[in-house]
Amino acid sequence: MKQEDKLQRREFVKLAVGSAVVVPFLTTNQALAGGHMPRVDESDPQATALGYKHDSTAVDGSAYANHEASQICSGCNLYQGKEGDEWGPCSIFPGKEVAAAGWCSAFVPKPS
Ligand code: SF4
Repeated sequence: MKQEDKLQRREFVKLAVGSAVVVPFLTTNQALAGGHMPRVDESDPQATALGYKHDSTAVDGSAYANHEASQICSGCNLYQGKEGDEWGPCSIFPGKEVAAAGWCSAFVPKPS
C-alpha cells in the first residue's frame, strides 16, 4: 500500500468515526434545543413495516386489529414530544419526528 493510500484511508477512518460520534450528538442536541428533525416518511421501509401513519384514523384496521382510533402517538410511551406539539421525536424512529396524531403498531400506552 502506498503512503498516499494510507493517508487517504486514515482520513476516511477519522471522518467516519467523527461522523458516527457527531451526528447522533447533533440530533439529540437538536431535539433537546427544541429544533425540528426531519419527519418520518410513511413510505420509509421501517414506517411501512410498522404500519405507521401520520393520522391514526387512516390506519388500516383490517391489517392492525389491535389498533383503536383513540390511540395516537402523543399518548404513546415512546413519544418524546412536548404536550401540544404537532410533531415530536419517537424512540422507534431515531433522528426523525412523528406526528402527535400518528400511530404505528409499536404503540405502547402511556401509564395512567
Ligand atoms: S412507537 Fe408510539 S410514538 Fe412512535 S410512531 Fe409508534 S405509536 Fe407513534
